[in-house]
Amino acid sequence: MSFDIEAVRNDFPIFEQTTRGKPLVFLDSAASAQKPRPVLDAMWELYTTSYANIHRGVYELSERSTAAFEASREKVRRFIGAADAREIVFVRGTTEAINLVAATFARARVGSGDEVLITHMEHHSNIVPWQLLCDQAGARLRVAPIDDRGALQMDEFEKLITPRTKLAAFAHVSNALGTVNPVRELVELAHREGVPVLVDGAQAVPHQAVDVQELGCDFYAFSSHKLFGPSGVGVLWGRAEHLEAMPPYQSGGEMVLTVSFEKSTWNDIPHKFEAGTPDIAGVVGLGAAIDYLTGLGLDAVTTYERTLLDYATHALEAIPGLRLIGTAPHKAAVLSFALDGVHPHDVGTILDREGIAVRTGHHCAQPVMERFGVPATVRASLALYNRESDVDALVSGLQRVREVFR
Ligand code: PLP
Repeated sequence: MSFDIEAVRNDFPIFEQTTRGKPLVFLDSAASAQKPRPVLDAMWELYTTSYANIHRGVYELSERSTAAFEASREKVRRFIGAADAREIVFVRGTTEAINLVAATFARARVGSGDEVLITHMEHHSNIVPWQLLCDQAGARLRVAPIDDRGALQMDEFEKLITPRTKLAAFAHVSNALGTVNPVRELVELAHREGVPVLVDGAQAVPHQAVDVQELGCDFYAFSSHKLFGPSGVGVLWGRAEHLEAMPPYQSGGEMVLTVSFEKSTWNDIPHKFEAGTPDIAGVVGLGAAIDYLTGLGLDAVTTYERTLLDYATHALEAIPGLRLIGTAPHKAAVLSFALDGVHPHDVGTILDREGIAVRTGHHCAQPVMERFGVPATVRASLALYNRESDVDALVSGLQRVREVFR
């Protein structure tokens, strides 16, 4: 499928404006992506034609709203290659998905002296829930190291899987480094020892096709807002047999079958994990985002972004005093860097004056910063709507930073 970048940009109303009097150069999609018109339209349409609470009403509006909501579940199922729509749990985002697994599945199997294995490149939301769990259970958090390029040290990961390991959790793609992990291989290593695997797919799904059955993992988590959908919605995919065996997470309406003061019984999956009224329009918007991406063709997106990443990598490497942090052989569209003698926040502020939005800071990955001996980095992250001219603007902006700090 060919990729028409100008047509794609026209789908995103945000690019119709200027910021700081300059055309908007948006290089922070790893934090949150912009939204195409079909996503906004789908939510507008739901609210203006079919909105009502779901799974409850016997009237037509509620039926329509429920149908739109459940149609999104089926879209997500197809999008990630899940076997069954019952395996798709709607949550608030990746963070909540990981907390759900930590508080239910992992809580029930991790005890005193056990271990949970993560990697050194994780986002805080794939560190802290496991840390809390380990503290509560008297278990130990083990961390597989990364090398100087930001690639996972596979042999060390393998060595850290022992009979004490009760769960492994790692990112598909690192938000701070862009490293793409060999998920299938890692899952095989873990499963060989009977260790279930959760994959944090927050930074993977916007950039590449994902098939959870092919990856072989047990849980996969991602957020709608990084996938060009609305914020406040995310997905936990889990194997049906796990979800069925897991105790509930949050409790209240919808997740129950019967309630009495003596005892309550639980609804079927996935509803058992969807207590309370969900973000109905958000889920519908996520479905539209998936339709949009599928319409472009994820393989075409991946190919386009790879060329753009190569272009950007070469352009940044040519800047004197710029150190790229995260140079693993397999990378997605993230460029983290430090500029000699200039604090990342100053870089970000000067770039902002040029209309260029980048992220500066530790990117919720403080252990990564510590591993590379920097307090923070500048992060330019690319998405399907970026073009070479955005990279050129970044390079010019960095020249401007140099002039200011000469
Ligand atoms: N995991 C990774 C790799 C991320 O990049 C992020 C967000 O930046 C998260 C988890 C958390 O996602 P959310 O804030 O949408 O829950």
